[in-house]
Amino acid sequence: MQSKELPAPGTLYIVATPIGNLRDITLRALDILSAVDVIAAEDTRTTANLLRHYSISRKMMALHRHNENATVEKVVNLLSRGQAVALVTDAGTPGISDPGAILVKQVREQGHKVVPIPGPSAAVCALSAAGITTAQFLFYGFLPASGGQRRRELEALKLQPYTIIFYEAPHRILECLTDLAKMLGDQRRVTIARELTKLFETIHSCELGDALVWLQADTNRQKGEFVLLVSGAEAPNPAELTEQAQHILKLLLRDLPLKHAVTLSAEISGESKNTLYSQALLLQREKNQPE
Ligand code: SAM
Repeated sequence: MQSKELPAPGTLYIVATPIGNLRDITLRALDILSAVDVIAAEDTRTTANLLRHYSISRKMMALHRHNENATVEKVVNLLSRGQAVALVTDAGTPGISDPGAILVKQVREQGHKVVPIPGPSAAVCALSAAGITTAQFLFYGFLPASGGQRRRELEALKLQPYTIIFYEAPHRILECLTDLAKMLGDQRRVTIARELTKLFETIHSCELGDALVWLQADTNRQKGEFVLLVSGAEAPNPAELTEQAQHILKLLLRDLPLKHAVTLSAEISGESKNTLYSQALLLQREKNQPE
């Protein structure tokens, strides 16, 4: 077994913490949290609970999305003085739908070392238990809170061939699933992963058209924290496109950005823009895949 790790001076550690079950902390995270000079925490009270559970007592400072810009300088000063700092958020991996990116960018630009201490993240946790075989997935995070903006965003995601991972809060879960079904279609598969690693953990898969009924059948199912995984758009059936249309698309994709190539192909061939767009995404994916 590797020996206990001591934090290096002048280093910023990005420490993932449990998303529910406190025993999901890593040994390395405990090493670092128990020995850094300062812990920058999204909510110092939440982190105090975690630290208390592991009998760790460290100096803390608040770093959340409302003060991240202003706090960066303080952290950089600590690092310049040779102190080791750990960044944690309330749950999961910092920087994933959580503060951290601004701090990390600045700290690296100022020439200080940033070391990630990997651990839980709700998105990966949900994906690992969803039984989805797709090799590619798209992490979206939170959709906009306003209905209009959310539907516009979903319209833009409609033809993506990848499984999409969303985060959602309990007070918006019903309207979010309503919009998902409306904009992406009733037939798409959805996995609703709720309260992961906690007492009432629930992982349910169904078609989007049945999701609302399932949630409404028991109000307890609407409580807690949610990850939603929605299957990607069906790959277009190449038989739907004429050979000529496919040829035009391939040629244009060589020199033009995807959207432009699709629009021109649709105009020239008279074929459906949606089918051409899906086909273009598929061609692009094949091109990017390792040999
Ligand atoms: N940084 C975190 C991560 O790595 O997963 C995410 C932070 S984000 C502010 C919080 C959202 O993550 C919640 O609203 C929920 O969508 C999701 N989440 C966090 N913990 C969860 C859990 N135990 N079960 C399901 N979803 C969870």
